Amino acid sequence: MTKNPFEAFQKQVESASELLHLEPHIVELLKWPKRVLEVRFPVKMDDGRTIIFTGWRSQHNDALGPTKGGIRYHWDVTKEEVMALSGWMTFKNATAGLPYGGGKGGIRFRDMDGSPINPKELSDAEIERISRAFVDAIAQIIGPEKDIPAPDVYTNPKIMGYMVDEYSKLRGYWAPGTFTGKPLSIGGSEGRGTATARGGFFILKEALKTVAMKFEGLTAAVQGFGNAGSYEALFLYEAGVKVVAVSDSKGGIYNGDGLNIPEVMQFKAERGTVVGFPGAEKISNSELLTLEVDILVPAALENQITVDNAEDIKAKFILELANGPTTPEADEILYKNGVMVLPDILANSGGVTVSYFEWVQNITGYYWSEEEVDKRLSEKMKVAFKHVFEAAKEFGVDMRKGAYVSSIRRVVEAMKDRGMI
Ligand code: GLU
Repeated sequence: MTKNPFEAFQKQVESASELLHLEPHIVELLKWPKRVLEVRFPVKMDDGRTIIFTGWRSQHNDALGPTKGGIRYHWDVTKEEVMALSGWMTFKNATAGLPYGGGKGGIRFRDMDGSPINPKELSDAEIERISRAFVDAIAQIIGPEKDIPAPDVYTNPKIMGYMVDEYSKLRGYWAPGTFTGKPLSIGGSEGRGTATARGGFFILKEALKTVAMKFEGLTAAVQGFGNAGSYEALFLYEAGVKVVAVSDSKGGIYNGDGLNIPEVMQFKAERGTVVGFPGAEKISNSELLTLEVDILVPAALENQITVDNAEDIKAKFILELANGPTTPEADEILYKNGVMVLPDILANSGGVTVSYFEWVQNITGYYWSEEEVDKRLSEKMKVAFKHVFEAAKEFGVDMRKGAYVSSIRRVVEAMKDRGMI
């Protein structure tokens, strides 16, 4: 059973490469990151102790342009996970038609005795010191023309603010195009905060069109109520979908008549969790996945839909806002059962697409309105969906394989045109 995200990534690349009859040396290149930097750095905590953190920045492939992808703060981050995530970024960026390769970073939040540290429980000052120290450690390999980080799990615009400040200090000039997902006041883009969810909404809209369905009257469950999941729940709610269940790391809530999502968001902002929301029953994260709903949105972490529960999934559409939530074995089962999986590298590509817009705005120094960002995002998502849908039809495969086939073709073409292979 594939529980290691890097193995899952390699399997996905292998099966698409077979369809394309790629030569073995090309497959080998696509299966591994070009460069992985492992760093260790000391950080003084508020109680006076010093913790040595370990982190990574992986640059998977830079044929299409500078590498791009977020930085994750989590106690379970491993080198292999970061490598997988960087590979997924390569094919996500190519799927979205962006002039970028794929990169990803992560810090493993563990105490000196190996026990997990929850980044959410640290003080602002501690997070700032960790973020600045990580930038110091990876500064040599990042930059607007090299590798452009952004937020990911448990990182946010505030952290990007510390990071871009640290990088600019090191260089001796203001370099806003080094990080995306920044606060608006320092070169962030309108619409970046909601972009992953907005992009996912556009992708789902296109998918519904292919089967002549509309949002009104459908039901949905959303696993993960962070930046992507909470806004997706809101957009679905606003489009007339009955969102019956949502969850976060502490547990889930269910109401068969539909949850009032703006109120749940308010509740989460005040209490830090959705659990305890009035008028809803408590359910577990795993129960949420197998609910009788039309749309399932995994928006948390990897390995949620596996051989253990794939057969029990009742949703007709799975919108993967998380990276890697479905294992390759589960994919086969879902495809056999007629579930349309909108794969991560397509479904959540709205985030990096607006990151690209942010980078363009930083480089040109000309800033766009929210309407402009939204319009361009919608256009990009429509084109990305069309490419993937057509490739899936052409090869007679599911949407994930369609996304891999069409994006691998792009990356390989660029590698060939540059004379890299
Ligand atoms: N972390 C996000 C992702 O996985 C965004 C990456 C970016 O904006 O560069 O797609």
